[in-house]
Amino acid sequence: MIEIKDVNKYFGSLHVLKDINNQVKQGEVLVIIGPSGSGKSTLLRCINLLEDITSGEILFKGKKINDPEVNITQIRQEIGMVFQHFNLFPHKSVIENITLAPEKVKGLDLEEAREIALNLLERVGLKDKADNYPDQLSGGQKQRVAIARALAMQPEVMLFDEPTSALDPEMVGDVLEVMKELAKDGMTMIVVTHEMGFAREVADRVIFMDGGQIVEEGTPERIFNNPCEKRTREFLSKVL
Ligand code: ADP
Ligand code: MG
Repeated sequence: MIEIKDVNKYFGSLHVLKDINNQVKQGEVLVIIGPSGSGKSTLLRCINLLEDITSGEILFKGKKINDPEVNITQIRQEIGMVFQHFNLFPHKSVIENITLAPEKVKGLDLEEAREIALNLLERVGLKDKADNYPDQLSGGQKQRVAIARALAMQPEVMLFDEPTSALDPEMVGDVLEVMKELAKDGMTMIVVTHEMGFAREVADRVIFMDGGQIVEEGTPERIFNNPCEKRTREFLSKVL
């Protein structure tokens, strides 16, 4: 589904992604872990075309997407993203947040878009909040709306950048539960998270990044029980 080939990214003279190579198969759940500043967000942002890469290639379903000819809006419909800080539109109701892009970008009529939105709200357990505004919701509820909003575009891949890091602890479980369900339904997912329990349970594969590099990768059992690299062991000893 996604192929990352020899990707390098600089911010000015800062080398943030160093020769990244990886592939994500359809239906696979890839979890990326690593210390702050290691390039995890930048990698997701490059895949979603929020950042351009300095060199290398990113392929989506076999087609190069880091190309000036590519329709960025189209790619972002197919590769949804959920951020740490939700980024909901504050002056729109929950349901309007979800119907906006399907109407404006996909050209659905309001009734169709509302039906999809209500189904998604039901799926994330928030159907009764459809007419509330974001500031009337808890952090965990906002994040579940953000997930529903991304899903409304019917993406083929979902990227999650520390979706629970800004939440009070008691809100984390509900959001992870929604993500688990999504994984179970076969969604292709790349998840940056510090939730090691989630990684163990849901990931097909875990990547440990440090200093802009993939230091090691493997099954969650292997990475958590038997890390090969000193840097991975040091990181895990701090977070587990
Ligand atoms: P992580 O998500 O793993 O914490 P990031 O991808 O956010 O790491 O950042 C990797 C490095 O790139 C950090 O040194 C960060 O300061 C730098 N960086 C990220 N975004 C920018 C930017 N827009 N301009 C300059 N430097 C950036
Ligand atoms: Mg980050």
